[in-house]
Amino acid sequence: MKCAVHPDIEALGACCNCGSFVCPECKVDLGGHIYCNRCLEVLLKTGSWPGQTNIVAPCAPGMGEGSPVPEDIKGWSWGGFLLTWIWGIGNNVWIALIALLGLIPYVGWIASLAMSIVLGIKGSEWAWQHKKWESIEHFKKVQRSWAWWGLAILLAYIVIMICLVVLAISLYMIAQTAGIGDSWKDYIPWQ
Ligand SMILES: [Zn+2]
Ligand SMILES: [Zn+2]
Repeated sequence: MKCAVHPDIEALGACCNCGSFVCPECKVDLGGHIYCNRCLEVLLKTGSWPGQTNIVAPCAPGMGEGSPVPEDIKGWSWGGFLLTWIWGIGNNVWIALIALLGLIPYVGWIASLAMSIVLGIKGSEWAWQHKKWESIEHFKKVQRSWAWWGLAILLAYIVIMICLVVLAISLYMIAQTAGIGDSWKDYIPWQ
């Protein structure tokens, strides 16, 4: 889509008042919402928004697939990438449930990893389109806490894994020095 005023420039969103597409030059940011220069000029002159209608602004969040997304929203989604289906449930992005395929070995793991990356790339846009947000700031604040939770869980997972490895190596060394040698392997139940 192109800017309504400059047909040769790519638009980055739509005016919350009149719905026309705006480019970086025509864009006016007010309280986390995008408006166009023309609407703002009328507002400053007359004290009220021009052509105020009851239609839901096209730039508004939660308008569904394919609705315009403010440029500020786009970018890598750490919450989507790290927490996949949990993040998806919290953000009305149901396609993220594909990541649950990770419960199936091998093929499922690959599908799940692919979904993680897709959610990292597209997650922010989808969350904006599928859930109601008060403002861009509100959206960013919530997504930031998702990212921190994802990071915290990832770190906890890594720490637990390291502990398990250290524990296994220690037990092995103890078994060696105690002269048990490799015979301890006979006691592993899943052999
Ligand atoms: Zn406008
Ligand atoms: Zn323009």
